[in-house]
Amino acid sequence: MKLKLYNTLTRTKEEFIPLMEDSAYQWPKKDFVGIYSCWPTVYSMPHFGNVRASFTADLIRNTIQYILWYKTISVMNFTDVWHLAGDSDDGEEKMEKAARQEWLTARDLAKKYEEVFIKFFKDLNIDPFTIMPRATEHIQEQIDLVKSLESKWYTYVIDWDWVYMDTSKIPDYGKLLWPNYKKALGWIKWWERVDLKGKKNLTDFALWKFHIWDGKRDMERESPRWVWFPWRHAECSAMSSKYLWDQFDIHHWWYDLIPVHHTNEIAQSECSTWLHPRVKYRIHNQFVLMNWKKMAKSDWNTVSPFEVIDKWYSYLDMRYFFFTTHYSSFFDFTRDSIQQAQNTRKNLIKKLSQLEKNYLFEDIQSFNLIENKLNTEIWKKFRTETMEAICDDINTPQVIATINSYLSNVNNEIISIIYRLENKFLKVWLFDSIVEEKIEIPSEIIDLAKQRLQAKKDKNFTLADEFRNKIQDVWYQIKDTPDWFEIFK
Ligand SMILES: [Zn+2]
Repeated sequence: MKLKLYNTLTRTKEEFIPLMEDSAYQWPKKDFVGIYSCWPTVYSMPHFGNVRASFTADLIRNTIQYILWYKTISVMNFTDVWHLAGDSDDGEEKMEKAARQEWLTARDLAKKYEEVFIKFFKDLNIDPFTIMPRATEHIQEQIDLVKSLESKWYTYVIDWDWVYMDTSKIPDYGKLLWPNYKKALGWIKWWERVDLKGKKNLTDFALWKFHIWDGKRDMERESPRWVWFPWRHAECSAMSSKYLWDQFDIHHWWYDLIPVHHTNEIAQSECSTWLHPRVKYRIHNQFVLMNWKKMAKSDWNTVSPFEVIDKWYSYLDMRYFFFTTHYSSFFDFTRDSIQQAQNTRKNLIKKLSQLEKNYLFEDIQSFNLIENKLNTEIWKKFRTETMEAICDDINTPQVIATINSYLSNVNNEIISIIYRLENKFLKVWLFDSIVEEKIEIPSEIIDLAKQRLQAKKDKNFTLADEFRNKIQDVWYQIKDTPDWFEIFK
């Protein structure tokens, strides 16, 4: 079965044929699929938008590597240079502003939040990416990129200001906004592009910014032209070329970056390498909304993922929650929807745990043995349906629905497939959680639950709530049944 992916570059679902198997790409011969994911900007806590994008990066990589069995090299960069408030060229400097607020240097601020992101990835079962480079450690590569563009006459200089990319020299500039990209460029919001005196075209963008006289920047560097500081866009071109070569398979991050950052990244990369297209598949995941309002770091209308996890849910609930919406659809975060995700995951575990005696906890290796012997109709059907869902542009809600629909008559064979999926693709620890659920409840917790039940019978609901809180404080959940209770870890 062939994987189909939605390619923003062509606006179609295309069959995934990696460069190594594509006869149009001759050199150099690759033995891996290269995947580049744009960034988290490391100047504050992760928000749902960049958590979802990181989840999607993991999802794409796992599909290519563990479902299709291609070797991959995945790169996710950390943007640790100073950054702008918006996509405009003269916004406020986020990195330095945030550093000042925390009484740190920009370097220490970046280091602090890099660690936060890495821990978050780990807790969400997002596997480490092969390479996680920092923009500030690739200054020479960025200088080389700009020099190459200058040598090819794509640039001009505004005195004492910046080196600019002359977009009028690029016939297909803006092609990511296909099909009518000339018209689409007109839609770019004026505040996203600065109408700076001296700029030849509104869409021209800065490659290189000279030292300015209102003080030293933490991240400024010597360059052949002048003291400068790294500018946005250049870092992704430079680092992806370094680690994946000038042409590679997949470039991914969220939709928001299409009109400016990805458009400019394509322009400068393709002009410096003269390779078209530089990246075969451009994949974008959609925004996270909060009750249908866009969530973004700069809007400050965010609920922190940490808050949600601390208070009510586990990382695995959240991971499962992400699977319930297709990566290219808007993800609406509401209290109800995450609650529903938690319930469904628990149900799934419950159904699997009911099968324990017959099917689970034998030698875990035996799933592979079982699978080798399988050839029954139901196994084939389930396997086909699951694969169809994954191959349809990694349709995760369909994968989840398929699993749930087979659980009513689950058997060894179904379990063997769920187990395989679970291991490298879902990673919501359905099987491990069964073990967790079987953990004996300490007697003091049961005592508290009994006292709560008595308080309820006495209609002392305040006291009953106190007992419930005590139980929850030590990470147990209590659920009422008609005349007794159930306790979960
Ligand atoms: Zn980028």
